[in-house]
Amino acid sequence: MSGAAYCGRFAPSPTGPLHAGSLVAAVASWLDARAAGGRWLVRMEDLDRPRCVPGAADTILRQLDAYGLVWDGTVLVQSQRDGAYAAALDHLKAAGQAYPCACTRSQLAAAPRNAEGETVYPGTCRAGLAPGTTARAWRVRVDEVSACFQDRVHGRLCQTLASEVGDFIVKRADGLFAYQLAVVVDDAHQGITDVVRGADLLWNTPRQIHLQTLFGLPTPRYAHVPLVVNAAGQKLSKQTLAPALPESGRGAVLAEALAVLGHAPPAELQGAGPVALLQWASAHWQIDNVPKHPIVAKRAT
Ligand code: GLU
Repeated sequence: MSGAAYCGRFAPSPTGPLHAGSLVAAVASWLDARAAGGRWLVRMEDLDRPRCVPGAADTILRQLDAYGLVWDGTVLVQSQRDGAYAAALDHLKAAGQAYPCACTRSQLAAAPRNAEGETVYPGTCRAGLAPGTTARAWRVRVDEVSACFQDRVHGRLCQTLASEVGDFIVKRADGLFAYQLAVVVDDAHQGITDVVRGADLLWNTPRQIHLQTLFGLPTPRYAHVPLVVNAAGQKLSKQTLAPALPESGRGAVLAEALAVLGHAPPAELQGAGPVALLQWASAHWQIDNVPKHPIVAKRAT
C-alpha cells in the first residue's frame, strides 16, 4: 500500500496507564504505518465509562509522546461519538438486522461457550421478545456461513458467526454502545486502512467484518500482534496488575517491545533512546518477522 493511502491507528481504552503489553500494540501499529510512509491516528476508546479511570487518557498520551510514538491529527474520543453510533444502530434496525433482547446474564449462564470462553448466544429473542419481558440490549443477526479473512500475521482465518458467536450485542443493557459497533463506525470514520492490534482481538475481527458488510463500509487489512503474558500465561493488563511503563530507561523497555515483535535491535543500539530505536525499527520493519505466539514478559509483572 502506498504511503498516501495508508492510515493506521492505536485505540487504547483509558482504563489505566500503558504497560509493556499495550506498548507492543502501539509500537507495532506505529511502525507499520511509518514504514509504509502512512498516517497514524490515536483514538481514545472510553466507551465503557464505568471502566475508565479519570486522568488515564492524558497519561496514555503523555506516555506515547515520551516513547517517541508521535501521532497525526487530533485524538478521536469515543465518548463524544454517541450520535454516530446511534445512527449506525438505527441503520441496522431499519434493515431488520438488529433486534431487542431481554436475556439476562444469568439466563444465558447455561448457553454454550466458544473456544474463547465467550457465551454463544442461543437466539432466545431472535423471533421476538417473550410476553412479559422487556428489552435490555440490542443484538445484530449473524449468518450461518463461514466468514474468512486474511490476517497479515496469522494468515487466513475463518469463523462461523452463528455457531461460534451467535447474534451479538451492539447496544448493551446499561445503555452503552458495544465496542464491536463503535470500532467499526470509528475505523470507517477515520479512514483506517490498516488495523494492527493485540491478538486478544483476533476473533473479534469476523464480527467487525460482518458489521462493515451490513453498513456497506470497506474492510481494513488486519494484523494481530503477539500478546505479552505473565508467567501464568495471562495477558498483561490492569486486572493482572501489570505495572505502568517506567519513566526512565525507556530505551530498554522499547527494545524489549521490539524483540517481542521479532525486531530485536542490533547490539550497536544498546543504550539508545526511543527516537533512534524507532528510526532503526521503521527502516527494518517486516511484518512477516512478527511471531504468532504470545510472549512471556521478561520483567516482573
Ligand atoms: N480499545 C481496545 C483495547 O484497548 C482496542 C480496540 C482495537 O484496537 O480494535 O484493547
